[in-house]
Amino acid sequence: MNVKQIYMDADALLEGHFKLSSGNHSQFYLQSAKVLEDPRTAQLLARALADEIKASGLEIDTVCAPAIGGLIAGFALAQALDVRYIFAERVDGVMSIRRGFEISKGEKVLMCEDIITTGGSAMEAAAAIKELGGKIVGVAALANRGFCKRQNSDITTKPNCKLPQNIPFFALEDFTFEMYSPEECPLCKDGSQAIKPGSRGN
Ligand code: ZN
Repeated sequence: MNVKQIYMDADALLEGHFKLSSGNHSQFYLQSAKVLEDPRTAQLLARALADEIKASGLEIDTVCAPAIGGLIAGFALAQALDVRYIFAERVDGVMSIRRGFEISKGEKVLMCEDIITTGGSAMEAAAAIKELGGKIVGVAALANRGFCKRQNSDITTKPNCKLPQNIPFFALEDFTFEMYSPEECPLCKDGSQAIKPGSRGN
């Protein structure tokens, strides 16, 4: 499966000159929601991810996704794994488990995101699960931004990765892009203007 091609075909992998939320500039931007716009593509990607997870032999009771980004990927993955699905959401800035979702003691929970950058949101949601007695057995995402090492990839973990190293991280593909400070950005030097993704409806 050519995951990068699927993202490009869905206009989820944008090429241009972007100003990222970190303030850095990049030639590429990943708009993950776009690849999940077609439910069949969402299902196709989730099944491929589920196959990899099943092959590892990892035991999972429940998939949990942090809202909003992980909602669709999490649901599709839980369906493909045929396990329970819940989500975490921010309440006054704090990731919380609401909506009557219950966690039993020792319940094996796999955290799922559409994309893992540093894994911050996934780990905040994981903390809420652990507080209720659940056990985090792994992390999964459709795309990996390249700061954390996933299973079956030889990229190394970067210092800003927040995922624990003692549980597996599954993702379909690494999307590692060069990032530049505005002063050193070669695209700026060529005279083009960085746009903020979202400012033009994307
Ligand atoms: Zn620039």
